[in-house]
Amino acid sequence: MNSYNYLESQFNISKNVIEHCKKCESELTDIFKKIDDTAEVNQLKVLNAMQKSGLAERHFSQTTGYGYDDVGREVIESIYAKVFNADDALVRPQLISGTHALTVALFGNLRHGDEILSPVSQPYDTLLGVIGIRKTKGSLMEHGIGYKQVNFLCDGSIDYDGIKNAISNKTKLVTIQRSKGYSFRRSLDVAEIGEIIRFVKNIRSDIICMVDNCYGEFVDELEPSDVGADLTVGSLIKNPGGGLAPVGGYIVGKKEYVENAAYRLTAPGLGKEVGPMLGVTSQFTQGLFYSPYVVAASLKGAVFSAKVFSELGYEVLPTAFDKRSDIVQAIKLGSPERVISFCRGIQAAAAVDSFVVPSPWDMPGYDCQVIMAAGAFVQGSSIELSADAPIKEPYVVYFQGGLNWAHAKAGVCFALDSLVKSNNIVL
Ligand SMILES: *Cc1c(COP(=O)(O)O)cnc(C)c1O
Repeated sequence: MNSYNYLESQFNISKNVIEHCKKCESELTDIFKKIDDTAEVNQLKVLNAMQKSGLAERHFSQTTGYGYDDVGREVIESIYAKVFNADDALVRPQLISGTHALTVALFGNLRHGDEILSPVSQPYDTLLGVIGIRKTKGSLMEHGIGYKQVNFLCDGSIDYDGIKNAISNKTKLVTIQRSKGYSFRRSLDVAEIGEIIRFVKNIRSDIICMVDNCYGEFVDELEPSDVGADLTVGSLIKNPGGGLAPVGGYIVGKKEYVENAAYRLTAPGLGKEVGPMLGVTSQFTQGLFYSPYVVAASLKGAVFSAKVFSELGYEVLPTAFDKRSDIVQAIKLGSPERVISFCRGIQAAAAVDSFVVPSPWDMPGYDCQVIMAAGAFVQGSSIELSADAPIKEPYVVYFQGGLNWAHAKAGVCFALDSLVKSNNIVL
């Protein structure tokens, strides 16, 4: 009995879906090997950081209240600093999400009259409200902080002349988003992020270069902090939490900037010295330990879905064989029915809430309806098998996650089967 037989006999996946998926998988051996090679190196990097930081069983005891002298917190922050090759780190359950971690990094380091610049087009949706691009109470703009943006050139490359012109003596921070997030654009390679940082630092070396690293951790052997980022920020319910972190975010980078963020997260004068871990230290560390191979499983799922749907004539970004910089796979399905059917297939493949049938709804902050497939152990965790799609042209579904390869693969088979059984795709 192999997994395809099981999918067919026990989950009723159609025979022609099985045949198509099996054939696609057989062509991915080389690329899967490359993904595993990267995971191996990153696994050793994490192991090394844990050993060098002296991680011990006593670090897993729980603190409450102020969290003074929380040794577990100190060790997880030391581990993150080493993994990311940074001076310092803030890794806390009090950072609720990626958006919150980015908000804390921005507000902690910006003052009235400063300006920020995004040299890679418009940032991730939730950041529009944080910055004030979308009018929002409490935004950076409301606090007197300006925003400029330089778009990608028509061919998708970076507009270096535009960046040069946009930098003024007020520019305090440049924010670079690594992942495509939920836009149909390519993700930035770590090397390319390094180039942008070098270019900016050549103009003015005191500009803070911050990278939104959400969905990017451990996809490459290098992280933005290895190529000069002053601040690198992400979410623990994505890649580095390894599916085990129940909440959390991280901010790593130069000591001064991480401290500034800590003064914003807690209070001026208190900074990193307070903040109880509430018993999550073992989940944070074990999740980080699992993360390189969880990311590898997600990447294989993304590659597999790219192959399965491109073979059927759908435009995918990136393609199965492109170099990747994040775990998100965009698939242009071209109709609302197909997008909905895909998401229902992903939901049906979940371990949690598999019986739920997702439908599009009016989510706060979006200009159209959105559908989300998310049967997750941790609410909203998108390192777990999940898919999201705005119900608007050109009807792209964004697929990511999978805590292991068997599940990521099953998810793709379920999604295609859902499309075939609803007569949205004919095989
Ligand atoms: C997920 C994500 C964020 C933050 O989202 P949260 O849901 O708040 O964790 C920010 N930027 C990018 C590119 C993302 O993918």
